[in-house]
Amino acid sequence: MQVAETVAHARAFFDVLPRPLGYVPTMGALHAGHLALVRAARDECTSVAASLFVNPLQFGPNEDLAKYPRDPEGDREKLAAAGVDVLFAPDAAAMYPPGFSTFVDAGSIGARYEGAVRPEHFRGVTTVVTKLLHVVQPDVLYLGQKDAQQTAVLRRMVRDLDFPVRIAIVPTIRESDGLAMSSRNAYLSAEQRAAAPSLQKALVAIRDALADGATKTQALAIGRGALHPLAALDYLDVVDAATFEPVERPNSPAFIVGAARFGTTRLLDNLYVE
Ligand code: AMP
Repeated sequence: MQVAETVAHARAFFDVLPRPLGYVPTMGALHAGHLALVRAARDECTSVAASLFVNPLQFGPNEDLAKYPRDPEGDREKLAAAGVDVLFAPDAAAMYPPGFSTFVDAGSIGARYEGAVRPEHFRGVTTVVTKLLHVVQPDVLYLGQKDAQQTAVLRRMVRDLDFPVRIAIVPTIRESDGLAMSSRNAYLSAEQRAAAPSLQKALVAIRDALADGATKTQALAIGRGALHPLAALDYLDVVDAATFEPVERPNSPAFIVGAARFGTTRLLDNLYVE
């Protein structure tokens, strides 16, 4: 695996990689969910690129940027073993040199749910992914369904701004008790870790209630009832998969989305329903 830490070095590597090129952006602290994205890229593409970059732009002032889990050496070993050809691992100065002032705004799709709780978050995501796509110039961008609103925001951006890339979504990889794998799960105490799978249970309860004919209000109440008392709920809802607008029933592709805090750790999850 070749490793580039500057945009110029990365471009030199990416320019000569055989096509099609699949690309997996990550913030590191890699787990089996990230590696499923690499595996999908390896299966479908001739060359595979990944990036490791904890993007300061997508963290709010009171969020966990400074303590976000980091394991650069372990991450490099995992990516090399998974068959990544080129890793782009810039530092913040390489991505945002002095004077940086241009941003990509996700618009209304990035203002709801995660965007309402984390106002600058999607502007940071769309800006960094724009830069990363310009550096890597992949044929296929691999994203996890785990961050469903991010997939919808980036699909919108790629369409709106004519990025010549296809987006492939990889299903969420879960622990054996149903908890969606996340780098942030490492923050949970034993008690919080035991309570955390109740977020997925709430989503399943909502899906089942809707399938049994409950109204959305009834189904969301059942979902809230399935949450562990340690969970402080940010939102539970049923949304259109493409627009992330709330819907009454999942008549077309939809996500049942949820976010809750366990202590200071915020966890997200979703279920896709057709
Ligand atoms: P992150 O490092 O959290 O920015 O995630 C990098 C990519 O991995 C994103 O596309 C995520 O949606 C994806 N991802 C994170 N967790 C999982 C998971 N449990 N299953 C599948 N993909 C995931």
